[in-house]
Amino acid sequence: MSLCPGKDDSILSQVRRPARYLGSEINAARAPQEGDLRVGLSFPDHYEIGMSHLGMAILYDCLNRTAGVFAERVFLPDTDLEAHLRARRAPLTTLETRTPLDRLDVLGFSLAYELTYTNVLAILDLGQIPLHGEERQRRHPLILAGGPCAFNPEPLSPFIDAFVIGDAEYLLPQICLLVREWKTSDATREDLLRRLDRLDSVYVPSLFSPCSDPNRRLISLSGRTAPVRKAVVEDLDRAPFPETPIVPFARIVHDRISIEVARGCPHGCRFCQASVLYRPVRERSPGRILQIADKSLLATGYEELSLLSLSIGDYSRLVSLVQDLMARVENKRVALSLPSLRVGSLDREVVCQIRKVRKTGFTLAPEAASARLRNAVNKEIDEEELFRSARLLASLGWRSLKLYFMIGLPTETEEDVDQIVALASRIRGEALRAKPGSFQVTINVSTFVPKAHTPFQWHPQLPPREAERRQTHLKRAIRRTGFRLKWHDANVSFLEGLFARGDRRTASLLEEAYRLGCSRDGWTEHLRFDLWQKALDKTGFSPQECLNPVPDPAAPLPWHWIDPGVSPAFLLREYEKALRSEAAPFHCAGDCSGCGHCSGSESPGPTRFSSPTRLCQDSPESAPKENPRPAAAMGVDGLLRVRVRYAKEASAVYLSHLETLTALQRALRRSGLPIAFTLGENPHPRIALSPALPLGMESLSEYVDIWLARAISAEAVANSLAKELPPGLRVLSAQPVACGAPSLEESVVWMEYEVRFCQDEPGEPSVREQLKGDVENFLAGRSSIVEIRSEGKISFVDLRPSVRDLTLLDGPIVRLQLQKIHGNLPSPTRVLDALFASRESRRTGRHVRKTQTVFQHGKP
Ligand code: SF4
Repeated sequence: MSLCPGKDDSILSQVRRPARYLGSEINAARAPQEGDLRVGLSFPDHYEIGMSHLGMAILYDCLNRTAGVFAERVFLPDTDLEAHLRARRAPLTTLETRTPLDRLDVLGFSLAYELTYTNVLAILDLGQIPLHGEERQRRHPLILAGGPCAFNPEPLSPFIDAFVIGDAEYLLPQICLLVREWKTSDATREDLLRRLDRLDSVYVPSLFSPCSDPNRRLISLSGRTAPVRKAVVEDLDRAPFPETPIVPFARIVHDRISIEVARGCPHGCRFCQASVLYRPVRERSPGRILQIADKSLLATGYEELSLLSLSIGDYSRLVSLVQDLMARVENKRVALSLPSLRVGSLDREVVCQIRKVRKTGFTLAPEAASARLRNAVNKEIDEEELFRSARLLASLGWRSLKLYFMIGLPTETEEDVDQIVALASRIRGEALRAKPGSFQVTINVSTFVPKAHTPFQWHPQLPPREAERRQTHLKRAIRRTGFRLKWHDANVSFLEGLFARGDRRTASLLEEAYRLGCSRDGWTEHLRFDLWQKALDKTGFSPQECLNPVPDPAAPLPWHWIDPGVSPAFLLREYEKALRSEAAPFHCAGDCSGCGHCSGSESPGPTRFSSPTRLCQDSPESAPKENPRPAAAMGVDGLLRVRVRYAKEASAVYLSHLETLTALQRALRRSGLPIAFTLGENPHPRIALSPALPLGMESLSEYVDIWLARAISAEAVANSLAKELPPGLRVLSAQPVACGAPSLEESVVWMEYEVRFCQDEPGEPSVREQLKGDVENFLAGRSSIVEIRSEGKISFVDLRPSVRDLTLLDGPIVRLQLQKIHGNLPSPTRVLDALFASRESRRTGRHVRKTQTVFQHGKP
């Protein structure tokens, strides 16, 4: 498998965290069928962010269950791989089959955050796809985009062929099948776009031109008469949901099973775009959630399961669901986390259940510290509830808590900002009152960004300098309080605001910034605000047009033909109440608040998808099945220890030591073997690996010790594990080891490597002759001193005593044996570099394979 068609994979040894680019993870789609429509699904950011996005995982699963469609993943490569691709003019490819992006039929982006927009351009560019829709030909993929940011599509409209508005589970397969049919016809690309435009909830920007008033403000869209209504999946139980999610090798931001338990939020915080876009509230049934949990745990071996919704505490059967889940997962040492608890919804029983395995973190989001400001933004929080939550967590053993606040909310004053510290102090005080000792509070502060389709869509955004002034004020107030403070860069919020309410003119600014070198703008270390300023100067675009108040709320906004189902009149009424600091209890699921979402109200309502098409197969009615495999037994007494020898080959050579450990732990969990767990706050399968193998090296002699809580033959362990290992890891043998025997690390005496060098190239001196000279020189010397730099310190080590044997074999192949000296084994990479220093530049031209590990008292 190569990153670029026709080229080798040697670049993977030279990039950071190559496990991100393998595409061979457990449960990843493998190969398309003849005639399948080839779809790339992209979350436009690095792998670790994109793989944490549930929306993309849902669509990946959904498309791969659609007959005639094969979906793969596309992420933005890290800067080192990007530079490599650009230097070689090699196209960015999909992960699974390494297909260059321009050879796909469809490429769809999930847009969750405005600061990924330059990444969208980078992916198109690296994929050698024309940036502008109008330049694409019939052979180019159809470029789609969806997700929350698609509700204001204009900033990306020149680059995207069609936007999918709302829930895409049924709509996206429908679009793909339409494209598949079109590909068999002679119809033009424009014909395809016109057919797509006729679908509900699809917006094709190239078919319409914006018309502006004399102030260049948009007033209408020529040719567009009806609004684009969002798609809504009515029944989550019948909607497809991944039961065999991909298990990444590389650590990702949210490395766990995520189950969406509900969509939509019953509350109406005025700053919250999600509450409007995902309306109405729909719950997945506990039976279906348990079914997904059972199947996904079996299919992944994950050690954490997370329940997701905008406000999990509002799930109507949360307590019984958590009890049922914990009853299933506790003995497997699977932790449960609820990342989005609303203040007031923290229940003692839920917290008690969660702590049975691991105390996963809690975050509470008061958003605003003063009651007046919370009224203005309609955040229904009782301070007493906040204090009760802090006391509850502290009394049950939690020693830390995260609090989220925003600055720059409409009507905010300096006193409101001051109250953040005061409120955090009271919360910590309550926690300490419940349980004296230490209690760490982290205050996370972001700058409020008004979003389209919210009551604050008409409100000005805090200018970056003023946001910085308020941040500085807060930092001063927090000094010496002992709180941790995290804040968002004011320039990042400025850019987010620019595109959150930008119109089609911001597309030129975006393109200019990208061409100047901007990408990964959401990453503080990559943000080049100086280049953004240059782009602003060059395009003459005035940011105030997007960030300042809209003078006339009756005037059309750039996103007014996208209909999220909530009427503008309702939003305006809410805005006016906010300016009067007036709360208005909102209950989407209870008494109607008149937002217009439901039928018969001011808005025509969304496009509803009430039943699954035959494209996806699921069986929501079937009762959750019992785990067919035996539950892993627990305990530390009478443990059995089995030593498994395994090979590490092919793509698995790019797994780091830690990634290999995690892959083995998850394989063991999937195997159903009665593995033993470590004790303590964070229990995990009790296994230990032989010393770390350098990245990129192959091995026929890796070892893992596995502790089991029940007697089982070594052969049975080997067979069960072999079935669950990812590609490139292969069980070779297994045998029991005394529980009290020394660790693998301790008992290794020496190791053997075979180093194969590239064959001679015409005109170059003979490789074998050079190796002969290198080997003879080394063996003739009494010492081989090398300089080692580590953590800013320099030391000198003599490698000569560590080399047990060095022999030149037939061909350009060297056998190297390294032994422990003073309890330390040298790194084979370091020895090889020292040995063949004159050939250092050809490090990628040598292939190293570990062939033998010898332990005390002979081989295990
Ligand atoms: S509780 Fe408020 S902020 Fe949270 S999702 Fe619901 S409406 Fe949005």
